[in-house]
Amino acid sequence: MNDGNLLFKINIFGCIRVLNMIADVERPALIAGPCAAESREQLINTAEALKGISGLIAFRAGLWKPRTRPGDFEGIGERGLPWLKEVKKKTGLKLAVEIAIPAHAEVCLKAGVDIVWIGARSVVSPFIVDEIAKALSGSNLCVMIKNPVNPDLSLWAGGIERLKKNGITNLAAVHRGFDVYYSKPYRNIPLWEIPIELKTIFPEIPVLCDPSHIGGHREYLARISQKALDLGLDGLMIEAHVDPDEALTDAEQQVLPATLKNIIAELKVRNQKNTTIDTGLEKYRTSIDELDEQLLEILAKRMKISELIGKLKENQNLAPYQPERWSSVFDDRLKKGISLKLDEEFMKRLLNLIHIESLRRQG
Ligand code: PEP
Ligand code: MN
Repeated sequence: MNDGNLLFKINIFGCIRVLNMIADVERPALIAGPCAAESREQLINTAEALKGISGLIAFRAGLWKPRTRPGDFEGIGERGLPWLKEVKKKTGLKLAVEIAIPAHAEVCLKAGVDIVWIGARSVVSPFIVDEIAKALSGSNLCVMIKNPVNPDLSLWAGGIERLKKNGITNLAAVHRGFDVYYSKPYRNIPLWEIPIELKTIFPEIPVLCDPSHIGGHREYLARISQKALDLGLDGLMIEAHVDPDEALTDAEQQVLPATLKNIIAELKVRNQKNTTIDTGLEKYRTSIDELDEQLLEILAKRMKISELIGKLKENQNLAPYQPERWSSVFDDRLKKGISLKLDEEFMKRLLNLIHIESLRRQG
């Protein structure tokens, strides 16, 4: 792995919680382990095989698995805790476990688990997050909070605020993508702007990326992990299993420890602060600044015209939303965007965003 910028060495889960300072681990920090604990052998063999991978700070394993459909494997529960303790004793790795209700939090606190995380299906429920936060309050456990399944930045931020209100400050966030109707080729759509925005709201909180649940297939792990690093996320949580194809949950996205080692070794840690001599970067940046200014001016002009249109529609008793007109505008701009080599999905999202704001201004 490229040594990268030493400034980006971080300590995520030690007593020092400050980003970009003295560090224990090489970026990216890594949490790895199976989706679910299945047996003592599976845990110990996986952990032994993972040990030594660069940046590895903790071993993950789900004991309680919130499944979409009843009847699927819902986890081994507390029975897996002695196995996890054995993993810690044998490998020295910290332990990370998902908790979904306050009782899970209490069990993990008693068992000496180091990191707990609140899963995407739990973060959607403010009452559950509150209850879990109360169960954890007063402990110095590291608590990670995944994004909610739906693309709602406020709900994610709200979860963090609820933890903070209960005195939990040893926090990290995990970006695992969002369940939307159309997320191809991935299992969950990344919507990178959301974790990036979260980092601007809470600059002191490290944000890890979970490429396993974003991609839904091991073939995407390398590319999503690289993207996460390039966008300045602080670490990775990746599902690994000694026999991925036979895993009881998320078989397609789990990866062999040896493969994970290669993926991590191939990642490029690029500088996020430009300390090198100007190589034309500044020239391009100036162009980007100018173009952004033009884009914003044009957008503002467009919205002003939307307001004028809104007034005319109101006088003529016409609804702001005119489906036929929008459909033809959408098709026309999409075609133009594609002919200009703009990505189709990006164009659709951009056009819909502009339309929603335009309707708001008309209303
Ligand atoms: C998991 O990490 O195994 C998990 C269930 O993830 P998520 O909450 O992101 O679906
Ligand atoms: Mn999983």
